[in-house]
Amino acid sequence: MDLKEIVVVGAGVMGRGIAQVAATSGFAVTMIDVDPPQLQKARAGIRDSAERLHAKGRLSDEQRAVIGKISAAEDLSAAAGADIIIEAASENPQLKEKIFAELDEVARPGVILATNTSSISITLIAAATHRPKEVVGMHFFNPVPLMKLVEIVRGLATSDQTTATAVALAQALGKTPVEANDSPGFISNRILCPMLNEAVYALMEGVGTPEAIDAVMKLGMNHPMGPLELCDLVGIDVLLHVMEVLHRDLGEDKYRPCPLLRKMVAAGRLGRKTGRGFHEYA
Ligand code: NAD
Repeated sequence: MDLKEIVVVGAGVMGRGIAQVAATSGFAVTMIDVDPPQLQKARAGIRDSAERLHAKGRLSDEQRAVIGKISAAEDLSAAAGADIIIEAASENPQLKEKIFAELDEVARPGVILATNTSSISITLIAAATHRPKEVVGMHFFNPVPLMKLVEIVRGLATSDQTTATAVALAQALGKTPVEANDSPGFISNRILCPMLNEAVYALMEGVGTPEAIDAVMKLGMNHPMGPLELCDLVGIDVLLHVMEVLHRDLGEDKYRPCPLLRKMVAAGRLGRKTGRGFHEYA
């Protein structure tokens, strides 16, 4: 693996985490986002996170210093010099197809185009390019600086070489790569989201209170968070979207989104980000 310069497209929650970890792992990093305030917020967020990790002794002085060297740009043309590109823009299939078609024009031949999508088909995204062999899923988890896993997702055409490079890059970022094939929800959301959805059904049917449902899974199953707490952290709108994808693409009733999820989204109770979901937040 001879990668020096990583370009991250999208400087939201995930993009900024990936940029931070790439910089502190020794790569030259450029973040690209169409929204200039997002780039500013990303810089501030990365600085705060790096300070916290430094204070806990988890980042060296040198690692903290490289944070200031992360470049920012508003146009995809800034990806021309990249050795690998990791896309973490908003979760919208048409947007990702457009970004990948453009990156395919901008990036040098042979450069890998990775996507951090949590639910869109890697094969579909790859088909928007002339280099489907070099398109791969690198599914990071939130918060990126703390979470160990990267799901490496192979699309129909992804080559062995591309997969091997993505695995090596994840390791160079201090993560543990696990391979999965392209299928709705990959491994992670295929298993996690139906479990969360079932917890919401249990609540809707009055099987238990939110506190009881969370306590059973924490104390009885050793989960670090209760399922309804996790729904609130992930975002109830995000969970509804993933369940809709699983239901539509796998075509089975067992993936039917719980009606209470739709009701919560309609009411604007999206979880932590709106101050109220299945629990309330100050
Ligand atoms: P976010 O909304 O926080 O950030 C998305 C960013 O993309 C925004 O800053 C937006 O301005 C930018 N963007 C939109 N169009 C763009 C374009 N044409 N070019 C460049 N930037 C553009 O979203 P997020 O939560 O960081 O999610 C990003 C991706 O990561 C999604 O595909 C999501 O499914 C995936 N993901 C999210 C999580 C999570 O917990 N949030 C976890 C794993 C994977």
